[in-house]
Amino acid sequence: MTRAVHTVAELRAAVRDARAGGRSVGLVPTMGALHAGHLSLIHRARAECDFVAVSLFVNPTQFGPKEDLARYPRDFPGDLAAAREAGADLLFAPPVEEMYPPGDCTAVEVAGPARGFEGASRPGHFRGVATVVAKLFLMALPDRAYFGEKDYQQLQVVRRMVRDLSFPLEVVACPTVREADGLALSSRNRYLSPEERAAAPALRRALLAAAAAYSAGEREAATLVGAASAVLAAEPRFVPDYLALADAESLEPCTGTVTRPAVLLAAARLGNTRLIDSLVLGRPVEAAP
Ligand code: AMP
Repeated sequence: MTRAVHTVAELRAAVRDARAGGRSVGLVPTMGALHAGHLSLIHRARAECDFVAVSLFVNPTQFGPKEDLARYPRDFPGDLAAAREAGADLLFAPPVEEMYPPGDCTAVEVAGPARGFEGASRPGHFRGVATVVAKLFLMALPDRAYFGEKDYQQLQVVRRMVRDLSFPLEVVACPTVREADGLALSSRNRYLSPEERAAAPALRRALLAAAAAYSAGEREAATLVGAASAVLAAEPRFVPDYLALADAESLEPCTGTVTRPAVLLAAARLGNTRLIDSLVLGRPVEAAP
């Protein structure tokens, strides 16, 4: 049975009780509107931890002034039912004032893997992400925290923060869950019109084109990116933001010949909806969905 709590004190008390009983603690941070991608993280946590806390918080500090904070989907009853079904022990759904006390003026500064791509397109985004994730870590004190590779750059930013600030926990990366046609599940997919939804899998197809070239032996970064760009350009509804190849860990852009593990990162707009996806080259391509 999943219990919903709304204050840090209640979260801490529940975690303290679990720990007193010798139970390990897993945390799954989310912004709600839970879909099968989120649920895969909860299932993984359930399999690996004795006590599973899911946080549900639409974090205002990671949205830019022109972004979709106000219209971000919210469905507390649906999320509670989904978290319950997936086997979470606790759903922590704090109001904004509980996470950010009035006059709050402290944040986590990020650089390195936070610099380009989403960091460049969405100034302040990763500072907001790192700050809220650090706060959630300190509130829940988990042994393990679960993040999706869907938000690949976010995962690397969190990993780096955990290393740099010596958080005593393990970051567990979970594979991207997809629709049958390859579109990565996202809370924002519901904004797509039927025509946009039909066009959306081109983003994944673009990444797969580069992966196919890589498998065939191509190692020039520009050629690999070119293979992906050509596929994306064939779907005129998409307005690309970036499509690039980067070092899989540091996220430094790759130039010349690729010699280290690399990740293709892509963001593109379909109408008013911005979609992102990624693919680590040289790995078996994960099955859909
Ligand atoms: P969000 O609610 O969008 O902040 O996402 C919460 C967590 O779920 C993040 O770690 C995301 O990377 C992860 N996530 C979102 N979509 C997917 C997906 N399709 N597959 C796997 N994980 C996902």
